Amino acid sequence: MKKLHIEMVPVAFKRVLIRVDFNVPMEAGAITDDRRIRSSLRTIRSVLERGGSAILMTHLGRPEGNGFESEYSVQPVAKRLGELLGASAPHGVTCVGTSCVGEEARRAVAALPQGGVILLENLRFEKGEKKGDADFANALAALGDLYVNDAFGTSHRSDASMHAVPLTMRAQEKSTSAGYLLAAELEFLMARIAQAEKPFTAILGGAKVSDKLPTIQNLMEKVDTIIVGGAMAYTLLAAKGVSIGASRVESALVEKSREFLAVAAARGCTILLPVDHVCSTEFSADSPRQVFVGAIEDGWMGLDIGPATIALYGATIRASRTVVWNGPMGVFEMPPFDAGTRAVAQAAVDATKTGAVTIVGGGDTAAAVEDFGLAAGFSHVSTGGGASLEVLEGKHLVCLDAIDPE
Ligand code: AMP
Repeated sequence: MKKLHIEMVPVAFKRVLIRVDFNVPMEAGAITDDRRIRSSLRTIRSVLERGGSAILMTHLGRPEGNGFESEYSVQPVAKRLGELLGASAPHGVTCVGTSCVGEEARRAVAALPQGGVILLENLRFEKGEKKGDADFANALAALGDLYVNDAFGTSHRSDASMHAVPLTMRAQEKSTSAGYLLAAELEFLMARIAQAEKPFTAILGGAKVSDKLPTIQNLMEKVDTIIVGGAMAYTLLAAKGVSIGASRVESALVEKSREFLAVAAARGCTILLPVDHVCSTEFSADSPRQVFVGAIEDGWMGLDIGPATIALYGATIRASRTVVWNGPMGVFEMPPFDAGTRAVAQAAVDATKTGAVTIVGGGDTAAAVEDFGLAAGFSHVSTGGGASLEVLEGKHLVCLDAIDPE
C-alpha cells in the first residue's frame, strides 16, 4: 500500500493540519509517559523546517463529547510538546480556547505565523468526532491547507478527524498524506506480516477477553500458537472447566470462549493457557501469596502466571521465528506480580537475538517493556496496540483509504 508521504509534499507557507495521537497516560494532571508525543516530532519538525505551520489535533482520554472538561484538556500536552520541539518551534506551542472548532481556535489559526504550532483542544470534547459528523469535519478541514495523518495509535478508528476530515479535504483538492510515524509503522507491520516466518506465535494478555476474542479469531488463521496470559486467561480456563477461585472472569463469555477453543483446535492453532498461577487472597501485594498448579482454590485470585507457565511460554517464544505481543501476563504494575510479564519480555528479547522478528504493541505492554529496560531488544515497539493488532490480523484500516491519493 503506497501512501503519499509528507516528505514529498511542499509545505512552505501552508497551514498543515496534522492528526497526531497524543493520547498519553496522565496522573493527577501530569504526563507519565510522553512516548506518543516524541513519536510524532519528526513529522512536525519536517513541516516547520520546510516553512510550513502546524495545526495539531488529537484526542486525550475518553470524554463523552459534552464540551470542555479541564481534566481532559490538552494544555499539559502542549507544554510538553513545546519543551520537546525546543528551537524547532520558535513561536512555541499554543493551545487556545475550549473547543477545537471554536471561534478562538479559528482566530488563532488565521493568525498563525510561518513556523507556528497550535495544538487544538481535545477532539473528543465534540460529539461530532466519534460520530464522524460532516459539519464537524468541515469545520476542522477549513483550518488547514493540507492534511497529514500521523496518528497510528488511532488508525483502526473511523473518527471524523481520521476519516471524514481527509475525505473532505481531498474533495476540496487539498493534499492528504501520511506522516513519518504512520508510514513507518505500516511499512514495518505490513512487511512483517507479508513475510512472517513460522513458527509464528501471538502473545495476548490483559484485563478482558471481550476485547480480544475477535483478535484471537483472526489470528488463529495466521499463527501457529496463541499464548494467553493476564486476567483474560481465566475466562478461557473457566471454559475448559478449570477451577479459577476468585480470579477475574467474564462469566457471560465462558460459553463463547468454549466455542473459540473448539474452533482453534479444529484449525490446528495451539492455544496455550497458564498451567500454574501466582495467587493472592486480595488484589494487593501485601496479602498472602501462593502458587497453585492447575485448579485455584476458592478465595484465591490469580494475579500472575506461575513458574511452570513461565517456562512453558518462554520455551515456545524462544523457538518462534515471529512473535507478536499485546497485553501483560499479570498485574505488572504491582510487583511481585510483574514477574510473568518480565519473563515473557525477556524470552522475546532472547528470540530476537536468534533472528526472530518480535513486535510488541499496546500502551501498557510497551510501557512495561520500556520500564524493564528491554524495549531495545525487540525488533519493533509499536505505538498502537489495537491498531497494530488489526494490521497484523490483516484487517483493512479505513482511514488509510481516506488519505490514499489514488
Ligand atoms: P489491558 O488494558 O486489557 O491491556 O489490561 C491491562 C490490565 O490488566 C493491567 O492493568 C493489569 O494489571 C491487568 N491484569 C493483568 N492480569 C491480571 C489479573 N490476573 N487479574 C487482574 N487484572 C489483571
